[in-house]
Amino acid sequence: MAERREGSLPATMRALVKAQAGPGLELTEVPLPSVGPSDVLIRVRATGICGTDLHIDSWDDWARRTITPPLIVGHEFCGDVVAVGEIVTGIEPGMFVSGEGHLVCGQCRSCRAGRRHLCVRTQGIGVQLPGAFADYITLPASNVWVHRHPIDPDVAAIFDPFGNAVHTALQYPCLGEDVLVTGAGPIGLMAAMVVRHAGARFVVVTDLSPERLALARTLGVTRALDPTRERLADVQHELGMTEGFDVGLEMSGSPTALRDMIANMTHGGRIAMLGIPAGETTLDLATVVFHMLTIKGIYGREMFETWYAMSVLLQSGLDISGVITDRFDAADHRAAFAAAASGHGGKVVMRWA
Ligand code: NAD
Ligand code: ZN
Repeated sequence: MAERREGSLPATMRALVKAQAGPGLELTEVPLPSVGPSDVLIRVRATGICGTDLHIDSWDDWARRTITPPLIVGHEFCGDVVAVGEIVTGIEPGMFVSGEGHLVCGQCRSCRAGRRHLCVRTQGIGVQLPGAFADYITLPASNVWVHRHPIDPDVAAIFDPFGNAVHTALQYPCLGEDVLVTGAGPIGLMAAMVVRHAGARFVVVTDLSPERLALARTLGVTRALDPTRERLADVQHELGMTEGFDVGLEMSGSPTALRDMIANMTHGGRIAMLGIPAGETTLDLATVVFHMLTIKGIYGREMFETWYAMSVLLQSGLDISGVITDRFDAADHRAAFAAAASGHGGKVVMRWA
């Protein structure tokens, strides 16, 4: 058991659990997780709901193939360190932290070369390993990110998807460039704010939801449009653009959006693709060739260069708090999941402590 700890700990805790194969989640009492010599025990303060959690709740095909119940779900969180294992250094009880939810093997070529985000054996908390929708979670100390500057706990709770946004948005230099973001979900919205902050000229965002487009406008994008009602070519014309977008950030998972993006890029344009298409996709690859486009797949976050970037972007004035539109107590998890599943608002946060 842990060597350094703060106060006494309860034997059990609340956790949101996929108890058996089938739809739904249960808020139930489970034992506190154990703390190995290199682990950190965190009392969870706030958590964010991700699309992954919605898949697991509804028990769709992906969840059926991927999840083995019983499982504590959730991977976006922040909290306070309450105990650390005996060989942990640099992290002490009382520190306020977020956690990288991808646990890497440490043995594969990429891990050994320090490229941990490219690990071939990544496992995720709340997917393969016990998750964060609970009063406490343990993580290897190497996955813990300490907040050394004051930060809004709700923002700290969404460092995981903020990391997806930052990792995608910073793939290509944006200073003075025209950027197209397809999909104004929480991650697309945060990515749009990051490229704005990084000096893009025009940031054009597409989505099908009028509420999300309205939210995008309040967050300061150049133009937010529904591509089924307006053509991107017309918007380019209206903005005085003549050659297409320099950088594309695909944040919807929609094949239609990716096709639209490919058709609206400049020659040599560069696309970073975070959105996950549900199945195989037909693309105009001749245009990719003739327009010499780059399409790069993005998964997760860089450990821990993206985490460093997130912290310093916030310190340098980037404010992503506007992307959080709904806050619930963990006891109201059903209402919180319903708000997230509606697909109309921004990020939904559940508070635990
Ligand atoms: P989200 O589902 O909340 O947002 C996606 C948005 O895309 C929705 O608002 C939807 O209305 C919009 N959309 C659908 N069709 C569109 C179209 N044709 N044109 C424009 N917009 C369209 O998702 P999110 O949480 O913001 O995540 C964004 C994407 O990234 C999702 O596909 C998600 O699965 C994926 N994701 C990937 C990673 C990774 O590591 N690669 C991590 C997290 C999320
Ligand atoms: Zn590895």
